[in-house]
Amino acid sequence: MNDITTAPRRSRVLHRSSRARPPLAVGGHGVWLVEQGGREVLDASGGAAVSCLGHQHPRLVEAIKRQADRLCYAHTSFFSNEPAEALAEELVGHEPGGLAQVYFVSGGSEAVETALKLARQYFLEVGQPQRSRFIARRQSYHGNTLGALAAGGNAWRRAPYAPLLSDAFSHVSPAFAYREQREGEDEAAFTARLAAELEAEFLRLGPQNVAAFIAEPVVGATAGCVPAPEGYFRAVREICDRHGALLILDEVMSGMGRTGTLHAWEQEGIAPDLQAIAKGLGGGYQAIGAVLLSGRIADAIEQGSGAFQHGHTYLAHPIACAAALEVQRVIREDGLLANVQAMGALLEAKLHERFGNHAHVGDIRGRGLFRAIELVADRTSRAPFDPARQLNARIKKEAFARGLACYPGGGTMDGARGDHVMLAPPYIISAAEIDLIVERLGEAVDAAIAG
Ligand code: PMP
Repeated sequence: MNDITTAPRRSRVLHRSSRARPPLAVGGHGVWLVEQGGREVLDASGGAAVSCLGHQHPRLVEAIKRQADRLCYAHTSFFSNEPAEALAEELVGHEPGGLAQVYFVSGGSEAVETALKLARQYFLEVGQPQRSRFIARRQSYHGNTLGALAAGGNAWRRAPYAPLLSDAFSHVSPAFAYREQREGEDEAAFTARLAAELEAEFLRLGPQNVAAFIAEPVVGATAGCVPAPEGYFRAVREICDRHGALLILDEVMSGMGRTGTLHAWEQEGIAPDLQAIAKGLGGGYQAIGAVLLSGRIADAIEQGSGAFQHGHTYLAHPIACAAALEVQRVIREDGLLANVQAMGALLEAKLHERFGNHAHVGDIRGRGLFRAIELVADRTSRAPFDPARQLNARIKKEAFARGLACYPGGGTMDGARGDHVMLAPPYIISAAEIDLIVERLGEAVDAAIAG
């Protein structure tokens, strides 16, 4: 391995910032990542809500080695493989919410693209080829590939690629109470207004033309851990059903235990027709995502053309599936959902203790181990900081300097909204480590605002 001090000045890897080379991560254990040189960084966001079991979990390292010894790869046009079949059984063998089959891909964007195409193919199979429109929400993130980016409502990410994006997508208001709920409007009225807007969008497009509505149950990267108000997803489900459209839930970030239940939709009293999952599925041990599809969609394809018109080279990769299967077994066998609930409640309480009266923290929100704080210039007016200050990036920098990795967003990243910081630590986290996160984050926030 090259020592970065002897490596060429410009990295041969095109990094997120092409002007700065990030430090090298060379190891990890539990919630900690180890940099070249030995400094340890507390991984308070699991990367981007990925590392649900922390780093170098011995059972995962072992499972990957075991599968590598047995079979590394077999193309899905010729073979299925044991880990893929076993993982599918683990995920949908009990048909949660009517979800009955799985399509394995390599990440979240691929999962979203696949879900969009499955929705489209479903309507071709059932003789409704005119259904080609999708409704999504502003302030959403569904991935960076062109279809997923077109579905997403993050203006900043969309802008440079706007000419390449499909116009099959339209966007309605996000279910974001802190920013969208009007003064004097209670939760029920807020939900009713959002539902009426969605209904109006169906009517504008012609309900017979709409294939699906797509949303994140708890919005992640774009707005910072925003759950919908009570009753919102029940209203959405009812509108989709009444108009014969499908409901796609993007649980790439909020799913697989992150919010305290295996699926975030379990807390909404509804289930989707199609569900995208990724990050917590493989916990970062392998690159894997998946789409869970309802029995109705599986049946339509089986009884119709008999083949889903799609495919990638690394579908259902044996080592990726073996790793994800082990991640899911560890979560189940070690009772980690209970720890997500307990540590999530503790994190919420500690955030309120530290930031509840902070002059520049306007909102503390989230579910389970998926929590965010939103920074504001003024708590009363909720006015955000000037995006030019790049406050969230400064907080990230100050936190990193203190040995804390947290996930910033907002500000310049989606314009006109407050900066936020997301926390999504591994499910194995302890109370002492939660204390450390809040302590270091508190110092970082104060230093960034003062700076
Ligand atoms: N959907 C959501 C909700 C996400 O948070 C992300 C990733 N942040 C994606 C899709 C895209 O996933 P990936 O980066 O694995 O392509």
